[in-house]
Amino acid sequence: MELSYSPQEERFRAELRAWLAHNPAGPEPERIDEWVAYGKAWQRRLYEAGWCGVAGPKEYGGRGATLIEQIIFQEEMARAKTPLLINLAGLTMGGPVLIAHGTDAQKRRHLKTILAAEEIWCQGFSEPNAGSDLAALKTRAVLDGDDFVVNGQKVWTSFARYADWCMLLVRTDPDAPKHKGITFLLVDMHSPGITVRPLKQISGEEDFNEVFFEDVRVPRENVVGHVNGGWDIAITTLMHERATLTFSRQLQSRVALTDMIQFARRWQHNGRAATQDPLIRQQLAQAVIESDVIKYTAYRSLTKTLRGGVPGPEGSVEKLFWSEMYQRMLETALSMEGPYAQLLKGSAHVPDGGQWPHLMLYSRGRTIAAGSSEIQRNIIAERVLGLPRGGK
Ligand SMILES: Cc1cc2nc3c(=O)[nH]c(=O)nc-3n(C[C@H](O)[C@H](O)[C@H](O)COP(=O)(O)OP(=O)(O)OC[C@H]3O[C@@H](n4cnc5c(N)ncnc54)[C@H](O)[C@@H]3O)c2cc1C
Repeated sequence: MELSYSPQEERFRAELRAWLAHNPAGPEPERIDEWVAYGKAWQRRLYEAGWCGVAGPKEYGGRGATLIEQIIFQEEMARAKTPLLINLAGLTMGGPVLIAHGTDAQKRRHLKTILAAEEIWCQGFSEPNAGSDLAALKTRAVLDGDDFVVNGQKVWTSFARYADWCMLLVRTDPDAPKHKGITFLLVDMHSPGITVRPLKQISGEEDFNEVFFEDVRVPRENVVGHVNGGWDIAITTLMHERATLTFSRQLQSRVALTDMIQFARRWQHNGRAATQDPLIRQQLAQAVIESDVIKYTAYRSLTKTLRGGVPGPEGSVEKLFWSEMYQRMLETALSMEGPYAQLLKGSAHVPDGGQWPHLMLYSRGRTIAAGSSEIQRNIIAERVLGLPRGGK
């Protein structure tokens, strides 16, 4: 692969870097409801300046630039430590899935509002008894006239409380083999019959939710792809989640590692700077090596996407390695802090604003979300390496 950038790509980077320098996002509010308003305003500013949907089609509000420029956008956002984009599910999954499988009407209706964060999206896949075994999902949708009537429950739905639209997987044919009777619906989260209940995470945040559907009517035209053909669309969504989302996350963890090394230079561990401790030095060096490994693995998988248009199962390699190396890296920060690692954000005398324990707690979910590490290993074995299925 070509690892240098063309003059046009370098111009794009310089223009974006200058824009970011003159348009800082400003401090992030602590309270989630204030953060939602702040996140929408920030994404809207990016969109109005032409930075959202860099590689998206121009007719639907994108910039029509290349995938490499999209990557440069992510690199520069990570470098400038800008806030996470609030409509992450819409930008990294909903939009790409509609571009690949949506009708013209669906693209016209949704793509611009996703980019401008006018409407926030969530992903309604997991259920209490259908996580790793997603095809076991039970939420039912029955056709009644021109509408589907949906009943059932989803869980772990990130940001559902603030979402306007949900990518919902429902069972439309209970008699078909389990992968064949699933449909992918776009559901207006303001429809009557939807109840959202927040769930508290180990980190103290309430990003997760349970979502209950009771006789929710969803117009038939909100089916993406065709009825009972939702499994393939779910797989496209998950590949985007594993590859596209991990690409930006590995960039952010690289920036976090640089901060962690700065912290290690300042922080006293066993009577000397933590960087002078042989064990910590080894762990930091290992983190830098792993950070380079994931960077080049992510670029290799990007090259495949550039050639094939959509990410393939190789995204599982990135997702698996990144989520596990990120936890190892944060464990190093915690072992440097020693007993201080028990102090959380907001406590007196907390080192480095309490960011390392907080990130560590948050990172626990990374080896579960978008398919657990065990599931990624199964995918890599069967679909990337072509090994026989276990137990056969
Ligand atoms: C931070 C975060 C955000 C999330 N956001 C969303 C969201 O927005 N929308 C959404 O729909 N879901 C979301 N999820 C849910 C996520 O997709 C599921 O948690 C995940 O798929 C695992 O399912 P489960 O929790 O039901 O665990 P289970 O499937 O019950 O797994 C339990 C354990 O058994 C192991 N296991 C299961 N099957 C196998 C197997 N075949 N071989 C080996 N081991 C196996 C798993 O690896 C795991 O360790 C999120 C999860 C997290 C942590």
